Amino acid sequence: MTKHIFVTGGVVSSLGKGLTSASIGMLLESRGLTVRMQKLDPYINVDPGTMGPYQHGEVYVLDDGSETDLDLGHYERFTHSPLTRDSNLTTGRIYQSVIEKERRGDYLGKTVQVIPHITNEIKDCIKRLATDDVDVVITEIGGTVGDIESLPFLEAIRQFAIDVGKENCVYVHLTLVPYLKAAKELKTKPTQHSVGQLREIGIQPDFIICRSEHPISSDDIDKIALFCNVPSKCVVEELDADFSIYEVPMSLVEHKLDKMIVEKLGLTQAKEPELTKWRELLHRLRHPETEVTIALVGKYAKHKDAYKSVYEALDHAGVANSAQVRVLRIQSEDVEREETRALLEKVNGILIPGGFGDRGVEGKIDAVRIAREHNIPFFGICLGMQCAVIEYARNVLGLKDANSSEFCKETQNPVICLIEEQRKVVDYGATTRRGSQPTCLTVGTRAASAYGTLDIAERHRHRYEFNYDYRDRFIDGGLVIAGSSPDGTLVEVVEIDEHPWFVGVQFHPEFKSKPTHPHPLFKAFIAAAVRNRRGNIAKEQINVADE
Ligand code: GLN
Repeated sequence: MTKHIFVTGGVVSSLGKGLTSASIGMLLESRGLTVRMQKLDPYINVDPGTMGPYQHGEVYVLDDGSETDLDLGHYERFTHSPLTRDSNLTTGRIYQSVIEKERRGDYLGKTVQVIPHITNEIKDCIKRLATDDVDVVITEIGGTVGDIESLPFLEAIRQFAIDVGKENCVYVHLTLVPYLKAAKELKTKPTQHSVGQLREIGIQPDFIICRSEHPISSDDIDKIALFCNVPSKCVVEELDADFSIYEVPMSLVEHKLDKMIVEKLGLTQAKEPELTKWRELLHRLRHPETEVTIALVGKYAKHKDAYKSVYEALDHAGVANSAQVRVLRIQSEDVEREETRALLEKVNGILIPGGFGDRGVEGKIDAVRIAREHNIPFFGICLGMQCAVIEYARNVLGLKDANSSEFCKETQNPVICLIEEQRKVVDYGATTRRGSQPTCLTVGTRAASAYGTLDIAERHRHRYEFNYDYRDRFIDGGLVIAGSSPDGTLVEVVEIDEHPWFVGVQFHPEFKSKPTHPHPLFKAFIAAAVRNRRGNIAKEQINVADE
């Protein structure tokens, strides 16, 4: 019998429910259990693919091409749960499916209603994951308890325990215990109210995880326990992980959350947690031997979640190189400013991530030029690679007006242009070239040496591509085509030979990096940044000696 864990959130959004859910998943896996993860998002968009990064942060892409919430990135980085289109459902998707069924006549003339039709649809989605080989399904409910749009989801998970038996379900509620500076006190009332709201709906949480900036006193824990109708040991403090998000599972283990969940669900097959690798990871994170500074030049650089997976992948690569990676987030428009340019010339690596739309593109192209001319390790991802191609066309091949037709329709030299199959597309939702696609790497390239193999598959999400008509001109001009689609028509990787490390990729390697398995390209990029730093130090020493 598959067991279920439901994770809800209260008081405020952005509490890190995804991280907590992923951490619980990771801890259960460390006990030898098979876990499946999913997220139900109450908003009406069919998927987050058309939402800007300011809304919910990065759009995370799965192997099957689904565009999902960034929490699924945490699930993949922390657990082995396979994720597909069915792992992230929204109100929009649920209604779309119910309406299709209604049109087909599946409801046999009945009035179609939120209860039971929408709630049944939600329950079916949860049940779909509970196959015989799965020990635990963890379902995270997006949004905050008290939101109107959350109600059908909460009602569905309430009914769920009646359907499968209360002993097979655990409800975890994550709340905030804020610190009031003026009163110099932590406040438990918001938690009491939020749990009160859940109980009104008919859900009694089994565990209350309290996010807090400061340690919560045992008096406050007892107070929360009393008002929220749970034993004190089931009120678990989760302090802000100032140092690294990879500490979260450890703090939950300290509070024995995993042990209590296993006991409550009667998972007698669970072993003791095996966390040696994770502890090693944290040790390496805490004790770097060196430090590098990477500039990330992007349109949403100031938004902390817009390039979430890129930041994570950089950290993973740092661990692999025993280096702490400091990221300098640079808004692409700022590259026009003299002082920003001067700053860029000093960093140990420049990374340009993916993006859409023309705002800030000229700044990114300029950042590529700085990396190329100053021999600074460069990593271009998707739009970052396209900017590298444009820069090379303009400043090396002399095609002054070279551009992408995404940004300038009239250019005489569209070195980046719309992919053939994209020309007829009108809808914006789920119509890019997406998901895992094979790439054949070229022998002797940096990419081939990083991967240690020639056949790779990486996740894509783009509409534009390297214009094949210019391929020979680029090759004659010294740009290396380091990877292509198996039929050779799409250029997927470009490199520059006479440069310490200059690689642009049309795909998104960041989605496949894990803390315990850093992505080979990120690893090689950071290794190059470490060499750059050593070189710079050597240069500085020479200068000092010269004087
Ligand atoms: N805007 C570019 C394209 O559509 C790049 C997309 C991306 O970086 N994900 O091809």
